[in-house]
Order: sequence, then C-alpha cells, then structure tokens
Amino acid sequence: MLFGHAVTAAFLRAKGSAFDKARNRPHIGAAMTVTLDLSTPAVRSALAPRAAQPPRMPLIGLSRAEMAESLVSAGIVPERQAKMRVQQLWHWLYVRGVSDFAHIFNISKELRAELDRRFTIARPEIVEEQVSNDGTRKWLFRFPPRGAGRPVEIETVYIPEEGRGTLCISSQVGCTLTCSFCHTGTQKLVRNLTAEEILAQLMTARDRLGDFPDRDTPHGAIVPAEGRKITNIVMMGMGEPLYNFEEVKKALLIASDGDGLSLSKRRITLSTSGVVPGIARTGEEIGVMLAISLHAVRDDLRDMLVPINKKYPLKDLMDACRNYPGLSNARRITFEYVMLKDVNDSLEDARELVRLLRGIPAKINLIPFNPWPGTNYQCSDWETIERFADYINEAGYASPIRTPRGRDILAACGQLKSESERMKKTERLALEAMMIAGHGEE
Ligand code: SAH
Ligand code: SF4
Repeated sequence: MLFGHAVTAAFLRAKGSAFDKARNRPHIGAAMTVTLDLSTPAVRSALAPRAAQPPRMPLIGLSRAEMAESLVSAGIVPERQAKMRVQQLWHWLYVRGVSDFAHIFNISKELRAELDRRFTIARPEIVEEQVSNDGTRKWLFRFPPRGAGRPVEIETVYIPEEGRGTLCISSQVGCTLTCSFCHTGTQKLVRNLTAEEILAQLMTARDRLGDFPDRDTPHGAIVPAEGRKITNIVMMGMGEPLYNFEEVKKALLIASDGDGLSLSKRRITLSTSGVVPGIARTGEEIGVMLAISLHAVRDDLRDMLVPINKKYPLKDLMDACRNYPGLSNARRITFEYVMLKDVNDSLEDARELVRLLRGIPAKINLIPFNPWPGTNYQCSDWETIERFADYINEAGYASPIRTPRGRDILAACGQLKSESERMKKTERLALEAMMIAGHGEE
C-alpha cells in the first residue's frame, strides 16, 4: 500500500532516511518507490504518536502547586482531588523513582492513560556511560531541544568514596564565563537547563546505580557499602548555577524535599565562581551549602583566572561570604582553590589566603589542576601542594587536597565538556601521556 506524505515523512525520518524537507516528500532520485505495510502493528505504532500528539509536559521539576494546577487545568483531576493526587504522584516519582505511569498501581488505569497522554515522567536519553577504574562514573545525557534549538548533551559525574557517594550535577550547557583554566569555559553557553533536566541527572543516576527502592545495583559497581548510593550532590558540573538561579532553586528544593528525594540541604553544595548578588539569595531561598571558586587571593590575578572578578571583586565577594545566611562553624563555606604551577601556588599566596578568610567559617579545598588539551597551565608539583596545605592547616583550616577522580574518563573538575566538542582520540592520548608524565599516578 502506498500512502500519503505526512505518514511517509514520519516513517522515513524515524528510520533516518533521506527526506526532502523543502518539498515535504521523500527523495525518489533513482526511481525509488516507497511502499510500507501498514497492517504491521510495529509500523503503525511507530507512525501514530508522531503524527497525532502534542508534546507532553514534564511533571518532574514542577512544585506541588504547579503540579496541582497542571493536573486540574488539563481537566483530568477535579480540583478537590488535586492535593491528594499530587501527594500520590510525588511519592511515586521521587520516593519510588518510577519513570512510566504504567507502574503506578494505586491509580486507576484510565487516569494513568490520561496522565500518559498529557504528561511525561520519562528519563532522558543516555548517550554514554563510562566507568573509571576508580569507580567514578560519567554519563552523557541528551535532552530534547527547547523551542527552536537543537538537542543538547551534558555530563554528570558520580564519585564513590568510603561511606558516601557524590553526584556532580551540571546547571547549564556550556558556560558564559571564561575562567582561563577551565575546559567548560571554552565551550560557549548553549542554554540553561530546566529544573526537570537538573533533577533528571540525579534521578537517572539513581536508576543506574540501583538507588531507588527494590532496584539492583550493577554487578561490580563501586558504591558506599551501606545506605544510599548517592548521599551528596554538588552543583559543580558544567555551568554557573547562579546564572540559572530559578531553575536551580526549583530543582534543589525538590531534591531536598523530605517527602521525596529527601537529600539533606547540608549534603547539597552549590559552587559559584562569585556571582555576588546570587549568594545571599542562595542562602535565603535555597538554604544549601556554599562553595566559592576562589583560586586567587589578589584581584589582578583573579581577574585573569576568574574574569567575573572584574565585575565582583574580592572585597565584594568576601563581604557576601561573611554575610551568608546560616553561616556557622557547623556550616562552613568551602573555598575551592585550583593549584596552578607558578601561578597561584606560592607560600605568599597561602599567607594571603589565610588573611583573606579571617573571620569566615571556612574549609579550603585544594584542587590539583586537571589538564585538558590546549591548556597552557600545569598542575603544581606535589611537594608545593603539600607545603601550601600544611601552611593553611597550621593556620587552623581544614584543607583537604581533592584527589583527582575519574581522570581516565575526563570526569575530573573542569574537564567536563559535552559531545558537541568532544576530544579526538589523538587529543585524549596526548592528555593521558601528559597526566602520566606530570603526576605518575595512572
Ligand atoms: N561554575 C561553577 C561550578 C562548576 S566548576 C564554579 O565555577 O564554581 C567546579 C570547580 O572546578 C570550580 O571550583 C572550578 O573552578 C574548578 N575547575 C575548573 N576547571 C578546573 C581544572 N581544569 N582543574 C581543576 N579544577 C577546575
Ligand atoms: Fe564556568 Fe565554573 Fe568553568 Fe568558570 S570554572 S568557566 S564559572 S564552569
């Protein structure tokens, strides 16, 4: 049977065949006749949804009030039932981790079908999952286009340690800022992620790690011996979270909701390069732990390393930290400090760092620079890092040196960059050679 253009087009596109968009018909260059058998159920079902359905609205990422409003205005839940339905769905989505309405067995079949027609709770596409030899995992997720844009890809990293598992989440595709030592900073901002997409990283990672009730953890996976597989989240992936404040806030309030994903706010850390106006709001409106990408203790150097410093210089940044709502000795700010050879790693820098942080309950996180192809920076020598750490330790600050994790899969801090500009194999080999030469640890 030969059929009309709309249907043929949908099928050919689904199969990735040549299609002449301008004229809305298939290429029939070599006298090709297109016939498809519509009596086959598989062909029919491949065609039907594309032709008929408007895009379905994501339920994940909506606040309770927004979810209630959406269910009522879709006409599938009466107003008086909205609260109860939201409570039910919230539990299934965020406690049980369902990603298909069909698995919600205490809601009628009819309502499930209606929900499925209008809304989606599906996970994003996993383009790639890599597992490092130290157990670190990195996922490349693909999200659909928003508006006229193209699909986007972002990375999320899982770092298992003794007694805890940390998920490093992205907030943007690329970054508008251009910190000179950061790989992500070389990729232009493509777009902000939505609250749904930020949560999808957490929920899909939990799926993959068997971190929802009644799920299996993959054989041989390195995860904490007891309890939850993901115990902490850090907004330290791609992007500047405070330049996507509203969506990050929505996502983190849902991640910390006690009747759902239930992560304690003390186990959620938001890292900023220093967007000063967003700092007080983070404390007041989200209430999570704060990390500051400091990296330099003088304005002239910080202007070069973290260019947002030109807009919000050290004095303003430190004032915002001093006034961070909820700051106390039990709730310290983490200051991240990347160790760059001969750039910011002298004892003079360490001394100035201690002076700068005086009076602020702080932890200092020394990050050995993670190299990437094309960078001019080098990681400080190990002895230099230890000397720096010893100095600030003696001044009374905890100063763990962050062990680089997942370097073999480019999952370490500042190495994230998505598919659009992935490394060529030769570059990857060069990087590996550089790491072996520089650190002798692989
Ligand atoms: N944009 C936010 C959060 C993401 S970056 C921010 O800048 O804070 C997470 C951390 O990794 C930041 O402290 C960042 O400065 C650091 N980082 C970036 N590139 C790095 C690299 N190549 N090696 C080590 N750390 C790096
Ligand atoms: Fe953006 Fe953070 Fe990288 Fe700077 S360090 S370019 S703010 S992701």
